[in-house]
Amino acid sequence: MHGFSYKNASLFCDDVDLAPLAAEHGTPLYVYSATTILDHYRRLDAALAGVDHEVAYAVKANSNLSVLRLLANEGAGFDIVSGGELFRVIKAGGDPAHCTFAGVGKTREEIVYALEQGIYSFNVESEEELRYLNEVAGELGVIAPAAVRVNPNVDAKTHKYISTGKSENKFGVDFEAIPSLYERAAKELPHIKLRGLQMHIGSQLTSIAPFIEAVEKVAPLAKQLKEKHSIEFWSIGGGIGIIYQESLASGTIDWWENQPEQERPLTIEQYGREIVPRLKNLGLRILLEPGRFIVGNAGVLLTRCLYEKKGRAKTFKIVDAGMNDLIRPALYEGHHEIVPLKQPQSNERVAVDVVGPICESGDFFCQNRELPDFQPGDFIALMSAGAYGFVMASNYNSRPLPAEILVEGDAATVIRKRQSLEDLIEGEL
Ligand SMILES: *Cc1c(COP(=O)(O)O)cnc(C)c1O
Repeated sequence: MHGFSYKNASLFCDDVDLAPLAAEHGTPLYVYSATTILDHYRRLDAALAGVDHEVAYAVKANSNLSVLRLLANEGAGFDIVSGGELFRVIKAGGDPAHCTFAGVGKTREEIVYALEQGIYSFNVESEEELRYLNEVAGELGVIAPAAVRVNPNVDAKTHKYISTGKSENKFGVDFEAIPSLYERAAKELPHIKLRGLQMHIGSQLTSIAPFIEAVEKVAPLAKQLKEKHSIEFWSIGGGIGIIYQESLASGTIDWWENQPEQERPLTIEQYGREIVPRLKNLGLRILLEPGRFIVGNAGVLLTRCLYEKKGRAKTFKIVDAGMNDLIRPALYEGHHEIVPLKQPQSNERVAVDVVGPICESGDFFCQNRELPDFQPGDFIALMSAGAYGFVMASNYNSRPLPAEILVEGDAATVIRKRQSLEDLIEGEL
């Protein structure tokens, strides 16, 4: 589900009318639905009910403290990729003992910090990193819990920048090299406790096939490592895709959950049905690391149209959000539905480019897209902007970071203030 729909011709987030919210707080403005975030978390948790499991939310998708707090209160674990993310989780009341630490380039400072905080597992990506972890743990006189990320060499069939499970990607250790690495680690690395196995084949997967292929390929390896090294968990990663592309129909945004199941690309229930039976008899605790699935469709970026520019070849709608606020279209050719906050009263569409104010030709939100007409002064929403949205925002062009708002029922709370001009130069001499 998601919490965005038209009521009385105005776009709402749950019970909050978005146009007055945008007018009050200014644009660009990120707005998240708490109900939607919790619904996604609970549905995923329920889909895995048949197996001992933990949902470790991938913090990098949206790391606002209030979002983390919401999930910590639900009992979620957290998958982190930096010391900064661990700091955020702790500040939000999350338990380091339910944190896994991923990433190919952990620094000494990050390793020491995570060891001191007592995280659940370092998910290491190379033998070199495992040896370094052993060394640092030895210096501190502690044992580091670790899992190695296996690269199963499976094609996730997603955008090349977010595909991670092929041999040519920088991630993980070759499937074939894993057993001997665990052997060597058990013999030679006294400050490492081999606690699990990890994989993550990519992001925004909209078909079940690559998940099944990877799980089937790696399950015998997980079983073998459990028998030989008593590992206790297998993290099967994140990557569950969401639907970015949807049409407006009959006054509501007609999202995929309303479609007959066989016409939907991938549902979480299907994921559970297909994946759980393949994991059930391993006797391992299964970790899942979803980011986008939890928060992607739970957020929008509101922006205001500043100008309409009619060029010889094209019509440009220039808005006050730019690629510095939401970089997915520029970076991954990401698609965001564009919806006026005031519901269009006709079915007329015009072909436009919606572009930002940044001095880059890549600064667009859509090109040649048929949209309901909107005019300078009107607000629009870039849908499905809850994941990899604000977290990737930058100050490029010296633009202050936008504010973020969390909606819970009819209450809208500012969970991050808009940056001021003073904030922009904070720390500079
Ligand atoms: C990014 C990442 C995730 C989350 O991916 P989503 O597509 O947002 O679910 C999970 N695990 C690892 C190791 C990651 O790098």
